[in-house]
Amino acid sequence: MPERMNVESFNLDHRTVAAPYIRVADRKTLPAGDVLIKFDVRFTQPNVAHLDSEAVHSLEHLMAEHMRDHTDAVIDVSPMGCRTGFYALLQGEVAPEEFAPVLEATLRDVLAATEVPAANEVQCGWGAHHTLAGAQDAARAFLEARGEWLTVEA
Ligand code: ZN
Repeated sequence: MPERMNVESFNLDHRTVAAPYIRVADRKTLPAGDVLIKFDVRFTQPNVAHLDSEAVHSLEHLMAEHMRDHTDAVIDVSPMGCRTGFYALLQGEVAPEEFAPVLEATLRDVLAATEVPAANEVQCGWGAHHTLAGAQDAARAFLEARGEWLTVEA
């Protein structure tokens, strides 16, 4: 392994994780004492499989919108550039066991959705680059592994 790097996930051995999973990727205490928690929400096995670009984009829109229906703690939901998952940044001391039900409820909303929110040229930088069905397939596969989410290592 290379020397220790600044980004937490660069110090994670992506060969030893077992997707799908969720784990705390970072935790930061701000000067006033508030805590930020960053979750690694991994949909596919690193270097083995990845999501289609359109599915990632639509899942980003769907999760960013619907997760906020289940908690006020969400600051950001963003895709990983490798397209194997997402980062979710939350305010407060949120444990994976507490985040998992929020994520589960969010993904059930994704399955029930009839459209991708804000998938248009006014509200998005690439309004045509979306697939509701692709996002729902990925959400369904992730939900089917619900029992494995808190197990990060193989
Ligand atoms: Zn967009």
